[in-house]
Amino acid sequence: MTTATDISALIAARRARRALALDEIGGKKLLAMAGIAIPKGVLVKRVADVNDALSGLAFPVVVKVVSPDILHKSDAGGVKVNLCSLNEVQHAIEIMMDTPAIQKAKLDGFLIEEMATPGQEIVVGAVQDAQFGPMIMVGLGGIFVEVLGDVSFRICPISPLDAREMLEDLKCVAILNGARGREAVSKSAIIEVLLKIGGEDGLLMRYPDEFSEIDINPLIVSNSGAVAVDARFILTQRDDAR
Ligand code: ADP
Ligand code: MG
Repeated sequence: MTTATDISALIAARRARRALALDEIGGKKLLAMAGIAIPKGVLVKRVADVNDALSGLAFPVVVKVVSPDILHKSDAGGVKVNLCSLNEVQHAIEIMMDTPAIQKAKLDGFLIEEMATPGQEIVVGAVQDAQFGPMIMVGLGGIFVEVLGDVSFRICPISPLDAREMLEDLKCVAILNGARGREAVSKSAIIEVLLKIGGEDGLLMRYPDEFSEIDINPLIVSNSGAVAVDARFILTQRDDAR
């Protein structure tokens, strides 16, 4: 069972190393401690380690580059999804190692993780607003946020009703309901994630001085649940770096 101390310890360890942010692996670890589902995954340093890593994972898997120098992994050629065999995984890593943007970067390794159950990609974010304090945001992933700007914000803490209303406020909410032959996705799974971040007992309320920004992009929501497949936390900077 995860305790609040585990979360505090994780953050303190990063702060002790003067980290400004939690990377994908640290961010997902924290989300898991907060009760938000993440894919099962293993970090490998070398192609030779792939075989062992795969023994604990189920296909299909995704490979992602892990580097402090690469924030947008896809743009750098550092994400390959839907890999179904040892060979495909090894090959994906070899190609990444030959990719210029990745060759230049300081590498922590490659994250091999299980693919989430297919569903709708959702973005969940949080920021500390100078005027309103912690705010939480939700939108549909990809073009819905980037092109249409279809997002919904609330000041925290949010109640379960607020979380539900945030979804209903989206112009594209019909997509969650299963418009045009799509399968409906679990709104309650999204609501649960919103509350674990921005609810009375959510991360933002429990650790009010720790995070200046949280970005889960995407959370993949199916009809049965929601999995955070990418996450990043920016730590609040303090003068008295503890
Ligand atoms: P980045 O945003 O840095 O490019 P992501 O980790 O968000 O990298 O991965 C890019 C895309 O790959 C995601 O938006 C998602 O579509 C897909 N993806 C990544 N990890 C998974 C996963 N575990 N299961 C399913 N799809 C994934
Ligand atoms: Mg992402």
